[in-house]
Amino acid sequence: MKKLSGKIAVVTGGSRGIGAAVAKGLGKEGATVIINYNHSQKEAETIVDEIKAMGSLAVALQADISDAEATKVFIEKALADFGKIDILVNNAGITRDKTFKKMSFEEWHKVIDTNLSSVFNTCKIALPSMLEQKYGRIINISSVIGQAGGFGQTNYAAAKAGLVGFSKSLALETAKGGVTVNCICPGYIATEMVKAMPENVREAIIAMVPMKKLGEPDEIAKGVVFICESEYMTGQCLNLNGGLYML
Ligand code: NAP
Repeated sequence: MKKLSGKIAVVTGGSRGIGAAVAKGLGKEGATVIINYNHSQKEAETIVDEIKAMGSLAVALQADISDAEATKVFIEKALADFGKIDILVNNAGITRDKTFKKMSFEEWHKVIDTNLSSVFNTCKIALPSMLEQKYGRIINISSVIGQAGGFGQTNYAAAKAGLVGFSKSLALETAKGGVTVNCICPGYIATEMVKAMPENVREAIIAMVPMKKLGEPDEIAKGVVFICESEYMTGQCLNLNGGLYML
């Protein structure tokens, strides 16, 4: 019997990077995985095939989770097709980095809608069924930037810090109902989001990290599985950052 056999998991932004590693990590432990994507259908279908090859069920469902109505349709379809959601990993996220002086209202709202309001959108529809079944694991992928701030990242840092406050507050409201709500705060992880940085910026970041390397997406997947298994952890941030920021 695998650790997460019988569990139904939703991973937003599961087509690439950290989300794809998390989806595979959950599938490896026996969960059925519903992989949400926005644009990367082919990549999402590849992850579905990889999970099926491990012997678990997986499907890919398109939805722009910054859109409340599209998210409602997506989560309701997941509930209708699979009967329940046990694990919700709110991973989808974007950056639109600019110094505050240059940042447009559009860049502010796009990041807040995608990285923060999306989590309200998914939880709003998924939580009632979790409370009804008296079991749920909500895991929000925040960032070290939400804790330490980031130059040119007022939008991103506000959204990621917002996730921490959101998670602690929702954890208080659901603690008696069998639903835990936690964050993971990754440091710099080797995905397209970080690979897209200019090489000199990436090298400077690596030099700042006490472990002198980027993290691997699998590390975040291991953290997600740990939180899924934990019975007594709620309202917490799991910091996976190579020592970059110590609380
Ligand atoms: P990534 O490689 O750029 O992948 C982003 C994922 O989010 C993709 O699967 C993308 O789907 C999805 N996505 C974006 N907008 C979406 C939307 N509106 N609706 C649905 N899906 C959407 O990013 P990553 O590095 O894996 O980051 C994943 C999460 O970890 C993000 O929340 C990020 O902020 C956080 N994080 C990353 C790092 C890092 O160093 N990489 C550090 C700390 C925190 P499509 O391709 O299908 O559009």
